[in-house]
Amino acid sequence: MAQLLITGGAGFIGSHTCLVLLEAGHQLLVLDDFSNSSAVALERVAELAGTRLQRAQPTLEAAPDALTLVEGDIRDAQCLEALFASAKAFGLPIQAVIHFAGLKAVGESVQQPLRYWDVNLVGSQRLLRAMDQHNCRTMVFSSSATLYGYPSPEQVPIPETAPIKPINPYGASKHAVEALLADLARCSGAAEAIQASGGGWRIARLRYFNPVGAHPSGRIGEDPNGIPNNLFPFITQVAIGRRPELTVFGDDWPTPDGTGVRDYIHVMDLAEGHREALHSLLRADPQMLTLNLGSGQGASVLDVVKAMEAASQRAIPYRIAPRRPGDAAISVANPSLAAQQLQWQTQRSLTDICRDGWAWQQANPNGYGDGCR
Ligand code: NAD
Ligand code: UDP
Repeated sequence: MAQLLITGGAGFIGSHTCLVLLEAGHQLLVLDDFSNSSAVALERVAELAGTRLQRAQPTLEAAPDALTLVEGDIRDAQCLEALFASAKAFGLPIQAVIHFAGLKAVGESVQQPLRYWDVNLVGSQRLLRAMDQHNCRTMVFSSSATLYGYPSPEQVPIPETAPIKPINPYGASKHAVEALLADLARCSGAAEAIQASGGGWRIARLRYFNPVGAHPSGRIGEDPNGIPNNLFPFITQVAIGRRPELTVFGDDWPTPDGTGVRDYIHVMDLAEGHREALHSLLRADPQMLTLNLGSGQGASVLDVVKAMEAASQRAIPYRIAPRRPGDAAISVANPSLAAQQLQWQTQRSLTDICRDGWAWQQANPNGYGDGCR
């Protein structure tokens, strides 16, 4: 059992990972500002894990439970300091951080670059400083396949060694955090002092491809704000009747059916990938892992439409429109390094993704509900 800090743990990927980590016996402190999530997600995680959700201030008035939720911002240095110091005072020092908190909408990042750099880079920097000060030097970081920019066809499936060419402020901010983490992993300036204070950095930079689907219970899932930008939640909302039709962005891509191809990964596979990355770091000497988390399988927009029609037994009306600016034709992972380093690979198919995503959408037509953010 380890005491973990999960930033952004109320969000889509964070909530599913919290469940997997609770089931693995870990004790979790979640820090989230609910800018894109609801505490209801964590109440449901607690229910699925057979525990209760404890709410606390950053100063932790009582010893943390299996699942403790603190509302706060990763950019708030005082909040971070209080959290690390209080956990230590209760004899449960934070041993590792899984860092999901951040802003993730590509289009918004083009409109609001300062906000994206502030939350994603400055927030990560403050978090890393608090960790360092408290001799907690193990981090699993949410990076993204968006770092690969527009992969050329000969690079697909994309290995981790592919050129890094972020094409928007979101990708650039993730690239900057990756660079900062690489500098920490290489840091040897004060080797003796670091050794004396608990050792060097253990870091996993996980580059996710397209996380989709939901826990099979239908109790937790993705709950985007407003009109979804991403294909999968848009399709489930068309299937449930919240939106009249899907707009397919281009049928003239150089792909088998002309629509864009992506590597969709079930969010439970992704959550299990985090568990394996964490366990690998906790077992090993200081090191840095940089791994693609994807299935290695490509699916086109029309493949996803067909799979969701089969899962929901409903027609998904769609209309072909011009290509979306900034899109790539194909993005598919080469996930062999993660298989080799973590003994992890995806277990769930596109059919499973659509079955579970549809179960979540059907049981929660309005997500976690209005007014509970
Ligand atoms: P999400 O928006 O559902 O979760 C992010 C969480 O962070 C939310 O709960 C939000 O309230 C919280 N948060 C945001 N800013 C915060 C701040 N300043 N302080 C504290 N909490 C804050 O997103 P997600 O899909 O679960 O993504 C998790 C991480 O994975 C993000 O870093 C994202 O960039 C990365 N990622 C996501 C995808 C994807 O397609 N979903 C792909 C690649 C990488
Ligand atoms: N897409 C689409 N209609 C939508 C949203 C997405 O046709 O309403 C396409 C998009 O062009 C891409 C694929 O679906 O080919 C996946 O897009 P998404 O935004 O989900 O992921 P990303 O492009 O970030 O990989």
